[in-house]
Amino acid sequence: MYDVLIIGAGGAGLSAALMAQKEGVKVAVICEGYPTRSQTSMAQGGINAALANVEDDSILMHIEDTLKASGEVGSKKMISKMCEDAPNTVKWLESIGMPYSRTEDNKIAQRRLGGASSQRACYAQDFTGLKILHTLYDQCLKEDIEFLNEKFLLDFSLEDNVIKGVSVLDIHKTEVEFYKAKTVIVATGGYSALYYGFTTNTNQSTGDGIALASKAGAKLSNMEFVQFHPTGLKKSGILISESARGAGGYLINQKGERFTDELAPRDKVSRAIYAQLQEGNEVFLDIRHFGEAFIDENIPQERKLSITYEGVDPVTELIPISPVAHYSMGGISVDENMMSSVDGLFAVGECAQSGVHGANRLGGNSLLEIVSFGRLAGMSAVKYSQSVDYQDVEVAMYDIEEIYDLANEINFYEKREELGKELYKNVGIVRDEKSLLSAQSLILKMEKELDFMGLGDRSRVYNTNLTELIKFRNSIELSKIVVQSALERKESMGAHYREN
Ligand SMILES: Cc1cc2nc3c(=O)[nH]c(=O)nc-3n(C[C@H](O)[C@H](O)[C@H](O)COP(=O)(O)OP(=O)(O)OC[C@H]3O[C@@H](n4cnc5c(N)ncnc54)[C@H](O)[C@@H]3O)c2cc1C
Repeated sequence: MYDVLIIGAGGAGLSAALMAQKEGVKVAVICEGYPTRSQTSMAQGGINAALANVEDDSILMHIEDTLKASGEVGSKKMISKMCEDAPNTVKWLESIGMPYSRTEDNKIAQRRLGGASSQRACYAQDFTGLKILHTLYDQCLKEDIEFLNEKFLLDFSLEDNVIKGVSVLDIHKTEVEFYKAKTVIVATGGYSALYYGFTTNTNQSTGDGIALASKAGAKLSNMEFVQFHPTGLKKSGILISESARGAGGYLINQKGERFTDELAPRDKVSRAIYAQLQEGNEVFLDIRHFGEAFIDENIPQERKLSITYEGVDPVTELIPISPVAHYSMGGISVDENMMSSVDGLFAVGECAQSGVHGANRLGGNSLLEIVSFGRLAGMSAVKYSQSVDYQDVEVAMYDIEEIYDLANEINFYEKREELGKELYKNVGIVRDEKSLLSAQSLILKMEKELDFMGLGDRSRVYNTNLTELIKFRNSIELSKIVVQSALERKESMGAHYREN
C-alpha cells in the first residue's frame, strides 16, 4: 500500500514525487510509458519567474500579465501564489542541476514570450522542458523513487468519496493490477490531442486522467478553454516556439504584409491568423533577419524541426504555419492544496484546473505551474496521508475482457481522425452554437458506435491497439464534456471565442 501514488511522470508528477519522497513516506510513480517520454520534454520556450536578470520586472507585473491573459477569470489568489513562488521554483531547479542558458554576467538568461511585459522566461536554448524533465528524473533516480513504468491507468477506486487506489493495465503482460493508496496524485497532462492531426501535443495527451477522475465523481471546470498556438508547422502541427516571435520574428502573409502584433496573447494572434486563412491567404513566420549564428545559438531546435518536418530552412526561407490546439486550460478542479473534490485524490499540472490560467494561459506559466504546484501537491498529499487510517474495501476490478469481446466492425483509428478534424473545425479557434451542436451530434453518434469498435490485434503481449482503443473511449467521454461546456459558455472569453 502506498502513501502517495502518482499517476504520470511529466514535470508535475516528478516534482510531486521528489517532495513526497523527502518526507520518508511510501511513494511510487505510475506511467504509461517512460518518464523521459512525457509531454513536458517538448516544451521549448521557457519557465517564467520575475528575476529581472535582463530587464526590469516584478512579481506584481507577472501577476498582472497572468491575470490579464486569463481574461480576468483566473483566481488572483492562486496566480499570486504561483508568481510569488516562481523565483524560488526556478532557483530550486537550478540547485538540483537545471542547466539554464546564461547571460554574459552569468545570470540565468531570460526572454520575452507573448503577453509578457518583460523578458521573464528562463530557458535552456529551446530545450527548456526537456532539460527540466531530465533534471527532475535524475533526482528521482538519486532519491531511489519507485517507478512503475508501462502501466496504463484504467480506473480510480473510491468508497464514500474517498480514494482507495487505482486499477492499471500492465501493458507488457496485458494484466489488470490494483494498487492501494492513501492518496493519489493525478498528473496525466492535458487534452489537446483530442484535436488529433491539429495539435502540437503527442498522442498521449488525450486527458485520460481527467476523463477517469470525472467518471469517479471528481468535479471538472473550464473544459471549454483550449488554447490554440499561433505557430504550428503547417504540415504537421509541430510547434515553432513563441521564443521565435519573442526574439523579433514576424508573422506575414504571402504578400509580405504583417497583420498583427506578434507578441499579443496567443488567442488574439491565433484569431488574426485564422482571419487571414479564412480570406484565402497563406501565413508564414519570418525569422530570416535573425541570421544563422543567432538561430543556431538560441533556437536550434526550431531550425531542425522546420527543416525536418516542413522542408524549409528558416535561415533563408519563410516557415509556413497554422494555429493548432496546444494547451488545455480546463481540468480537474482543485483547491489551494491541489486536492480535488474527492478526498485524497489530488491533481496537478495540465490535468488540473488550479485557477492560474483562467480562459487563456500565458506562455512560460505551465512549466512554472507544474514544478511549483507539483511540489506543493507532493507535500499536501503527504500531509493528508498522515491523517488517514486506511481501511480495505472490496474493489470492482476493471474488466478488459469486455474490450476483447467487442466486435471489430468499425475502425476506431479512422474515427479518431474524424473526431480531431471535427473538433478543430467546429470547436476550434472560432465557434458558434451551430458548429458546437454539429460536433456534439457527431460525438454522440460515435459514442453509440463504440460497441462496434473492437481490437484488430488480439494479442496479449504489449498490445498498443488495446491501450489506444481505451484512450479513444476516454476521448469520446472527454470530448462530450468539452463541447457541452463550450455550449454552456455563451460569451466569448480568452481562448473560447464565440461568434454567436
Ligand atoms: C510543444 C510544446 C511546447 C511547450 N512549451 C512550453 C513552454 O515553453 N513553457 C511552458 O510553460 N509550457 C510549455 N508547454 C506546455 C507544457 O509543456 C505542458 O503543459 C506541461 O509540460 C505538462 O506537464 P504535466 O506534467 O502536467 O504533463 P505531461 O508532461 O503531459 O505528463 C503526463 C504524464 O502522464 C502520463 N499518462 C498520461 N495518460 C496516462 C495513462 N492513462 N496511464 C498512465 N500514465 C499516463 C504520461 O505518460 C506522462 O508521463 C509546451 C507544450 C508543448 C506541447
